[in-house]
Amino acid sequence: MTKQEQLDVIAKEIELCSICRKQSVGRAVPGEENPDAKVVFVGEAPGKKEALTGRPFVGRSGQLLRKYIQKIGLSEQEIFITSAVKYLPKRGTPSVKQIDHARPYLIKQLTIIDPQIVVLLGKTAILSALQEEISLKNEHGKVIKKDKRMYLLFFHPAAALRFPDLKKAFIKDFRVLQKILQ
Ligand code: URA
Repeated sequence: MTKQEQLDVIAKEIELCSICRKQSVGRAVPGEENPDAKVVFVGEAPGKKEALTGRPFVGRSGQLLRKYIQKIGLSEQEIFITSAVKYLPKRGTPSVKQIDHARPYLIKQLTIIDPQIVVLLGKTAILSALQEEISLKNEHGKVIKKDKRMYLLFFHPAAALRFPDLKKAFIKDFRVLQKILQ
């Protein structure tokens, strides 16, 4: 099976997951773009626009994220974008239980794609991928090497949209990623 076919199998599993569907609204958002991506971006959970379209990061946060991805010279075809939780939760931010439930999907996607760099956007993505509670105020921009991969800790673009200081940090952290890629 090609990498794309393997990712399609996971996407189908996510779509059919009765536990996810019971606790969520709208469509599943497994992730998209290149199955051979060097860089994977992981967000928190789909928002309303994503749950309507089935595509990750297509709302306001997504516009900001995609703008800086392009600014550092990465094309959308060189990346894979997904979230820790694959459905829009019925209520608020995803619970630890929902993050734990969705973790195997993320891990399987990362195992198939095998990227060099994983950019973790916000606390939920960090908790999902690294199983650690990290204070982004102190640790954003940091690179963690684990299992032959580099994990970069970024603020979530929604936080960057709300707080000007966090937007500055978000832009600065993109420069860290750009340097690593050069
Ligand atoms: N926020 C996320 O974390 N993921 C999306 O797909 C959209 C918004």
